[in-house]
Amino acid sequence: MNILDIILEKRYGRELSDEQIAFFVKGVTDGSIPDYQISPLLMAIVLNGMSEREMTTLTLEMARSGDVNDLSYLEGVPVDKHSTGGVGDKITPLLLPLLATYGIQSVKLSGRGLGYTGGTVDKFESIEGFDCEIARERFPELIKKTGMVISGQTPDLAPADKILYSLRDVTGTVDSIPLIASSIMSKKIAGGAKALVLDVTCGFGAFMKEESRARELSAAMIRIGEGAGIKTRAVITDMDQPVGNRVGNTLEMQEVYDTLSGKGQKDVETVVTALAFQLVRLAGKATDLDDNELKEDLLKRLTDGRALEEYRKLIRSQGGVIGEDGSPKYVDYPFDTMHINAAEDGYITNVRANLIGRASCQLGAGRFEKTDKIDFGAGIILCVKKGDKVKKGDVLCALCKGEKAELSDERLYAAYDLASAAFEIGPNPPEERDPVFAVLPKKPFGVK
Ligand code: URA
Repeated sequence: MNILDIILEKRYGRELSDEQIAFFVKGVTDGSIPDYQISPLLMAIVLNGMSEREMTTLTLEMARSGDVNDLSYLEGVPVDKHSTGGVGDKITPLLLPLLATYGIQSVKLSGRGLGYTGGTVDKFESIEGFDCEIARERFPELIKKTGMVISGQTPDLAPADKILYSLRDVTGTVDSIPLIASSIMSKKIAGGAKALVLDVTCGFGAFMKEESRARELSAAMIRIGEGAGIKTRAVITDMDQPVGNRVGNTLEMQEVYDTLSGKGQKDVETVVTALAFQLVRLAGKATDLDDNELKEDLLKRLTDGRALEEYRKLIRSQGGVIGEDGSPKYVDYPFDTMHINAAEDGYITNVRANLIGRASCQLGAGRFEKTDKIDFGAGIILCVKKGDKVKKGDVLCALCKGEKAELSDERLYAAYDLASAAFEIGPNPPEERDPVFAVLPKKPFGVK
């Protein structure tokens, strides 16, 4: 078998055999296939797509390219969650403690942010002392203590994906449903979960700009997951505007604390409880509650202090510092530096998440290069959301840098320009829409 034939097969739009896909993934992992031959095959996949069988084989081969986690020390069904990325996405720090209130244990392996979508690890590391570099041998001890672990992804999990993803990043081959689906699902399969909820974001600030593409990606990932023996659900959520009203690391963790204290934003509560609903059902918990009762119960536990207690346990167990008032202490705090004001009267018709994300990156909250240092205190406080009525001069948002951090005027003004362009104002209110667009599959597998 040789790689040139495989490239040509895909270039002419033919299906690859399981053996050809296995040969490709092995060659990627052991370095025997050079980048200049991996890249054209990736491009041929982008252009000609993959069948369901090819996608599943690619995913399983990538999952087996490294270690597969054994989560048998968890009590009950090992659950996992994945978001396809967004701006202001603070769902994981809320979801884990909420699930813990039902006795659902979870090991969450998360990434650092690159570009304008933030990483969960960076968000947790904005808490003083919080350690996300947990050795795998310590997971059972932490699970025993709190039922939760949050850790950076280990390099031995799906190493083929790491190589392919960094090449895709620089060869214009990120945006492809077979490649995104196999990349995400290979890590989830290697992660060892048996029940998975996917938060498939959709809109200006997401990979998937249109709902039809988000549905297509969801369907592909569900088929792969179910085929691999993982009960998989997808929740398609709004990423036209940022989630909640804070973007940035400390800022988002402060919003997490507010949400758990019953002072959160409605959209955040809606998305977290929708995802948790699926996992509680898949984990076989709260079986005495019907669907409406479970929805109510989730919101109560999220906001009445029960999830907050679990959150504090998680923070303490990984070295994080909690102050005397019960809230976490942060590495740096946001310093409100500049405001953006409404240029006219009207209704907010858009708060473009991609522009807010890029503005937040300019302020120092994200990385342009993997090696960039983050300003934990930097970010944006949104004072309005889509649908709000404003008067000329009203503050739309505040741009923040860290109290201890430096920020050049050039970066501050670049952020100002980006964030200003994010707000669109019109004479009429936009159509209201629930932030949860759809839950898939409509009819779970195996149910007649
Ligand atoms: N997230 C991933 O892990 N992989 C992709 O290809 C896209 C988003």
